[in-house]
Amino acid sequence: MDLTLSQSAIDTYQRCPRRYYLRYVRGLDWPAPLTSSELDFEQAMRRGEHFHLLIQQQSLGMDVTPMVEASDDEILRNWWHSFLDHARTQMPAAPQAQYTEVELAVTIEGVTVVAKFDHLAIEEDGRVIIFDWKTGTPRADEQLARTWQSVVYQFVATERGGQLQQPAKSPKVEATQVQLTYWHARDAQQPVRLPYDDQMHEEGRRRLTTVIAEMKGLIECDQEAVFVHTPNEGECRHCPYRSYCERGQEAGGEMEPEMLPDVEEMMKNLDGLDDLDL
Ligand code: SF4
Repeated sequence: MDLTLSQSAIDTYQRCPRRYYLRYVRGLDWPAPLTSSELDFEQAMRRGEHFHLLIQQQSLGMDVTPMVEASDDEILRNWWHSFLDHARTQMPAAPQAQYTEVELAVTIEGVTVVAKFDHLAIEEDGRVIIFDWKTGTPRADEQLARTWQSVVYQFVATERGGQLQQPAKSPKVEATQVQLTYWHARDAQQPVRLPYDDQMHEEGRRRLTTVIAEMKGLIECDQEAVFVHTPNEGECRHCPYRSYCERGQEAGGEMEPEMLPDVEEMMKNLDGLDDLDL
């Protein structure tokens, strides 16, 4: 078995093993009928994707601002102005190297764990500065620190960040040299910077090793039934797979604000359809 996992796949699995199975093993997409609130959700997701793409294009030297200004999407225009006015000023001014949409990977328990970073800069002193652009509802530092995204990003950057130095050095860097910054388009002046250290790194290793061994065991069983339904039916309310689970053919009526942080996870899940390579 040749298995590759992203933080989105692990996050999906922890929310609901069955959702992981349907999304990543069966490769199913959005089977539930969309309600108007979910169309809003879909629109928010597409806007977030568009925003990430604009940043990527700009980092390649394209002047995308005239295109954004011509857009009739006021929210997108506001996010873009916030990015230019605030996010860019928080990025290292003269890094030895910087990358957009770059991937690094480690192997744990025979499984490849991939981190795809929105932006990663290497400072002259070797520090690895990661930026992640968020467009959903801003979340508190403690919440963000606990996410699989933070665990995977910080762990992988520590184990492999040296590969991106110029010239490339030993893959591993000191955990204290890794800094992860979440920049929220809706709270542009308050980026969340998460520190990292050896103790957190070993805790991340323990968590990743445990969850990956568990996932591997289920996948090797090769039986749908071992991917159980989450006991937390709140997860089902806006899950696109509920029609497969006898948990309601129709979507929940109101879009709950706390669902919005999922926008980017959903985007990355959509990107991650090929993550599983059995
Ligand atoms: S509807 Fe509920 S049980 Fe079914 S996949 Fe979605 S979250 Fe899991």
